[in-house]
Amino acid sequence: MQVQNLSKQNSLIQDLVADIRSVSKHNSRQQFRDRIEMLGLLIGYEISKTLAYQMVNVETPLGIAACSRLEKQPVLATVLRAGLPLHSGLLRAFPEADNCFIGAYRKHAPDGSFTIQMDYLAAPVISDRILIVVDPMLATGASLIVTVQQLIDRAQPERIVIVSLIASSAGISSVFKALPDVEIWTAAVDTELNNKGYIVPGLGDAGDLSYGETMPR
Ligand code: URA
Repeated sequence: MQVQNLSKQNSLIQDLVADIRSVSKHNSRQQFRDRIEMLGLLIGYEISKTLAYQMVNVETPLGIAACSRLEKQPVLATVLRAGLPLHSGLLRAFPEADNCFIGAYRKHAPDGSFTIQMDYLAAPVISDRILIVVDPMLATGASLIVTVQQLIDRAQPERIVIVSLIASSAGISSVFKALPDVEIWTAAVDTELNNKGYIVPGLGDAGDLSYGETMPR
């Protein structure tokens, strides 16, 4: 149970988080996705510092260089659709990673409550691998918990790393209660969740800002 709160260090990550939060920059979906992709690359770089490497000999035009290379490629898992730009950024950091895509969505009841519906899963083998699960807005944590549980019911990864851009304090607590062995890497932590399950101040709806609004389910 570990939280890597990347807002505790000043870096470009914080500058980009300010951009994606800012209403004044919400007028271009392409720029919103591009910034999130850049965040994925930068967070991937931070995670790469904690992975295992092995020494290999690489032939250069002039000789042999001793170099280190990632020991194993991670598996990147994403809940459609809001996670896609962050997934793309992590895939730039780990271009040879295996990938897992999950379809899950909130099904709202008239009283405002919701349940998580999972209707699509395309997953590689995850046993003994480093599973990086991407969820840009870790709000209640409900969809993330369902997703990770479905994956680990099939096989046990060596390490589970959840990557979010903005996490709520309540979401972090719920995830650790249900999944005590995961790590959460987040670019920001916000304390409030509103009654619709949105993070406040957050940034709004990451899926809509990336791809446009959907019709009601
Ligand atoms: N999903 C979002 O896109 N934003 C939130 O604040 C919560 C969930």
